[in-house]
Amino acid sequence: MALDRNYSLETLAVREGQERSQFNEHSEALYLTSSFVFDSAAQAAARFSGEEAGNVYSRFTNPTVAAFQDRLAALEGAEACVATASGMSAILSLVMALCSSGDHVVASTGLFGATQQLLGTIMPRFGIRTTFVAQTDVAAWHAAIQPETKMFFLETPSNPLTEIADIAALVGIARAQGVLVAVDNCFCTPILQRPLDLGADLVVHSATKFLDGQGRVLGGAVAGPRLLTDEVFKFLRTAGPTLSAFNAWVLLKGLETLQIRLEAQSAKAMQLALWLEKHPSVARVYYPGLPSHPQFELARRQQKSGGAIVSFTVKGARAEAWKVVDSCRLLSITANLGDTKTTLTHPASTTHGRLTPEQRAAAGIGDDLLRIAVGLEAVVDLQTDLEIGLSSI
Ligand SMILES: *Cc1c(COP(=O)(O)O)cnc(C)c1O
Repeated sequence: MALDRNYSLETLAVREGQERSQFNEHSEALYLTSSFVFDSAAQAAARFSGEEAGNVYSRFTNPTVAAFQDRLAALEGAEACVATASGMSAILSLVMALCSSGDHVVASTGLFGATQQLLGTIMPRFGIRTTFVAQTDVAAWHAAIQPETKMFFLETPSNPLTEIADIAALVGIARAQGVLVAVDNCFCTPILQRPLDLGADLVVHSATKFLDGQGRVLGGAVAGPRLLTDEVFKFLRTAGPTLSAFNAWVLLKGLETLQIRLEAQSAKAMQLALWLEKHPSVARVYYPGLPSHPQFELARRQQKSGGAIVSFTVKGARAEAWKVVDSCRLLSITANLGDTKTTLTHPASTTHGRLTPEQRAAAGIGDDLLRIAVGLEAVVDLQTDLEIGLSSI
């Protein structure tokens, strides 16, 4: 039974989505079963045809996955949500479900690396073209619209430079042309930003990041009006990039602490950003919570806080950036983000390594750039760790 959406987000995050079994368990049950049994041949037929609601087969129906979908939908203020095996399969499913050969997408140059590869190199083989434009250049999004344009796809703040897309402005342009707007809300999560409230049609998640929050499982989701998520569901049901019940259960528990984690991690990121900005070995800090961020005012309107991702350039090039990485004893050298353990990444040689040098240059990702996804350790310990490498530059 769905909870009243007037409850606060922190209440929905711990309570929404649960349907208790005959055992009346307090914590959410994990239904590890690939299929479900029917009372009769007639019921099996009715379930398969969709005449009767109920579970059939875990490629497309599972109560634990449904609980996660309902909880995330409530947090995003969405009518419905479809969970997927990973963030990339959420984006793939979205494009496959809503675009056809001949359709066109407008997306930002600052998208997550794999998303750029998907839209830029794989989808064109199936006749779906993408024009990439600068995240912050609203006029460029407008100018890129063609008669075949089906969708705007954006991610804000962008990874790793934390550029802010003006969701409401882009929605205004897209609406007038009948173009859908999909927002990858991975960095902010509904705790800091709710794109649907700003008029976006769909929200996409890599649940692997903050929604899990402890670096355990992969998962993804698409949330929005049922009319659109049903199309995604149809693709998922047939093509199969489904979220596993176990991962859904881990993610359900992750959502329960999402708000306190995001708020704490964001506050620590702000402290670290301020410290980095004053550091003599640091050239520039990219963090939407800093007044020096070019879109500080927009970020303040659109997000509750700056978030947990801080990027910065060191004074030097790849050797100096790698020195900071290699000097760290505490920070994890890993490409993941959104974990309670702080991670440090050199985007140019890892997450964005498959881009051509020209694409990297267009996205503004230099060899001197580092990205920190701030976790829950004490800020002083993170500073001590970073100081070893920074002071040797
Ligand atoms: C990680 C990430 C993805 C892809 O998610 P996976 O779960 O790794 O497939 C998509 N978008 C953003 C912004 C991400 O950070």
